[in-house]
Amino acid sequence: MEECSLYVSSSFCAFKGDGKDAWIFDVDDTMLSTVPYFKKHQFGGEMLNLTSLEGWMRETKAPALEHTLQLFHEIRGKGIKIFVISSRRESLRDATVDNLIKVGYHGWTSLILRGLEDEYKEVQSYKAETRKRLVEEGYRIWGIIGDQWSSFDGLPSAKRTFKLPNSLYYLTNRQVPDRIWSYLVLNSRASCNLGFAECHTC
Ligand SMILES: [Mg+2]
Repeated sequence: MEECSLYVSSSFCAFKGDGKDAWIFDVDDTMLSTVPYFKKHQFGGEMLNLTSLEGWMRETKAPALEHTLQLFHEIRGKGIKIFVISSRRESLRDATVDNLIKVGYHGWTSLILRGLEDEYKEVQSYKAETRKRLVEEGYRIWGIIGDQWSSFDGLPSAKRTFKLPNSLYYLTNRQVPDRIWSYLVLNSRASCNLGFAECHTC
């Protein structure tokens, strides 16, 4: 985060101030923390379940990652347009907006969530295609902040990328006919209940 803050304030970032300077933030475990959810369910050894995770997201109780919140406003204060790109589904839009505002985020330019057509794509392809659209609209992407490599993979990228640590899980993709499923894989084998067939770490 400090590195990111230094970069934003440095001469490396020659923002033009023409409304086309842009920055990308991821949501889960970048702007908002899912730790309370995992504390409640996974640490107790329950099955990992997207429906239950989304149910928790709808409660809009995710706390902010304080350092990201500070950085968000620092970047916004420089007149840079912030694009929030998440692999959350479009059906979670209201809950996501409510939660972000509740913990202090405001003033982003656009919140981009996964529509129905995007659910068939790998997370990294969906995010790369979204960046491509922004670049085609003339935006210069100065940086991306996220906790998963899927926020950075593919082209176009940004001038700099900032990967936050995530000690809880990583995203992987499993290809099945006509569809790619994304899985959260817990880093801790001890708390993994996905089972051998689905978990890449067991
Ligand atoms: Mg994330």
